[in-house]
Amino acid sequence: MPLAFTPLMKKRLTRRASEMIERSLRYFPELHGKTITVGLTRKHLGSASISYRAGAISRLVIRLRVRKVSYQTIGHELTHLVQGLAHGDRSTPRSVARSRIPSGEKQCDIWTLARHPLVCDDPPTYLRLPRIVRDQWPHYATPVRTLCVAAIEKRQSHRLYIRWLESEIRQLPRSLPDKKSGEQMELPFDPILSI
Ligand SMILES: [Zn+2]
Repeated sequence: MPLAFTPLMKKRLTRRASEMIERSLRYFPELHGKTITVGLTRKHLGSASISYRAGAISRLVIRLRVRKVSYQTIGHELTHLVQGLAHGDRSTPRSVARSRIPSGEKQCDIWTLARHPLVCDDPPTYLRLPRIVRDQWPHYATPVRTLCVAAIEKRQSHRLYIRWLESEIRQLPRSLPDKKSGEQMELPFDPILSI
């Protein structure tokens, strides 16, 4: 996987962070074979950008913190790159375009969580979550991810799929018995099959 680190990032990069980036990338086949430049950020959790030259993509960049970086943040920024790639290419037929990741921050959170349990180690930033879901995230990560997968499915026929998702998440604390241990639990129903 071609990764290029900026000079500042090279100085700060830890083995842990570099392994986390490599491991996350395995679940982003859309980015395979492309060079991704990884830089450092201090202000934000992370950021992503795509540079164009003469209408073609010339550089894919993500910026991350090194300390306490989570798979969730890495995944979120990689999902932004996938969003950007789809946006830049207008030659794809509409039928394929429907399966693309729509642009937007909440959309980025939903498609990131749905991608793989690995990137569900921290709560998402933009998706509206009840406080208890955020505070007890390890307890809710699996059911929230399941709902994100269901929401992506629902988008095919439901324009307000994000509103639907946030309302389902809001109801999770009622359907999941409170548990302080942080142990992950399965949903008592299967929202994918019930659509
Ligand atoms: Zn973002």
